[in-house]
Amino acid sequence: MALTGLDIYKLLPKTNCKKCGFPTCLAFAMAIAAKKTALDKCPDISDEAKATLSAASEPPIRTITIGAGEKKLEIGGETVLFRHEKTFFHPCGLGITISDTTSPADLQDKIKKFNALSFERVGQKVKAEIIAVKNDSNDKSKFINTVKEVKSKTTALLVLLSNDTSALEEAVKIAGDAKPVIGPANISNADQITAIAKSNNANILATGKDLDEISTVTGKISASGYKEILIDLSNVKDITSLENLTQTRRMALKKNIRSIGFPALVFTSGANTYDHLSYAAMAIAKYAGIVILPEPDPSIFLPLVTLRQNIYTDPQKPVTVDSKLYAIGGQPGANSPVIVTTNFSLTFFSVEPEILNAKVPTWLLIVDTDGLSVLTAWAAEKFHAEKVLDAMKKANLESVVSHKKIIIPGYVAVMAPKLNEISGWEILIGPREASAIPKYLRSSWQ
Ligand code: SF4
Repeated sequence: MALTGLDIYKLLPKTNCKKCGFPTCLAFAMAIAAKKTALDKCPDISDEAKATLSAASEPPIRTITIGAGEKKLEIGGETVLFRHEKTFFHPCGLGITISDTTSPADLQDKIKKFNALSFERVGQKVKAEIIAVKNDSNDKSKFINTVKEVKSKTTALLVLLSNDTSALEEAVKIAGDAKPVIGPANISNADQITAIAKSNNANILATGKDLDEISTVTGKISASGYKEILIDLSNVKDITSLENLTQTRRMALKKNIRSIGFPALVFTSGANTYDHLSYAAMAIAKYAGIVILPEPDPSIFLPLVTLRQNIYTDPQKPVTVDSKLYAIGGQPGANSPVIVTTNFSLTFFSVEPEILNAKVPTWLLIVDTDGLSVLTAWAAEKFHAEKVLDAMKKANLESVVSHKKIIIPGYVAVMAPKLNEISGWEILIGPREASAIPKYLRSSWQ
């Protein structure tokens, strides 16, 4: 449970010395509780108090990093059960399994299809990131060869799964510094796997037949001082995956049970493709850290990455595009039309394809409206004549086109007289709906 300002105050020196920049220890405690300052700003806090407060300020679900550098994926670290309470911070990872019993031809095919699981949606690149390599053959050399092949032909983050700890030790070195997940760690091999993970900077996948056993395994690992842990709920019997995922999140958040406060990795199951799709969709929504499917099927992954993108987009922060002048539909010139609209990404991605449909190369001037759509921005006074003029000046529009005509959205026709007065440009009233842009550009503009 989060500590209150008064709980924190009780652990401070209470000298009101002001070295932290706050007038009193109580004011500092309140700022810590509100996460507005850091504990190390108080130089006189005791080590004991520091340890207590640091532990209490850790998120109830530990943040785990897989991979390194630009490719790294952070999962966990969530603090709420429902997105509307705050937001979800770390999108879950999506991936596929590759068994080391896969034939060479099928392995190449799977790798090729995995590499193609990359899509662009509302201006963002979304893709599958993870490959879980399984040592189903129980043959160390087959496992190592499969890991080498996957590592050399993909940029996937790796989950390496074998019951042979010597195979894991060799495989983890192939991953290099790309911090993979290794496992499964159970009661009997947890110490060995922890030693491998510690010396190779890897994450550990802890498993067990029920939540108690998983807690025992994570407890063993944590007792060694190592906490880079994920939990695998696949082997938990007599309860649905939805219940497992929900229970672990609730217990970590509401009961502060640290032994299961780690991101969960889920392998989907089912009799057919649609079972896997619905299983994965459930796990993305409720509360998996990693979701692994058996096949790299784009018709399954596109809806899943879209769902993930929607759930992990902060609803309080509209998705925006850069506010600048875009050349759409080839290379527009000095006589090409100029359309102006707002930087709300859905507005941009509604207007852009319609300009492309028109097959009339066009300049698209995007005004910064804090991500609001046309009418909302106008009502909030974020899309008005002065702002449009400002964007025109920043884009140096006078030197881009020679005609001094600009097309504004039909919904904000009311700004035309003012914009004409302050810019000296002729203001053309465009269509209200993006779908009418092709007809407008081909007829009215021409
Ligand atoms: S530096 Fe520490 S002791 Fe001094 S006022 Fe701030 S919290 Fe209190």
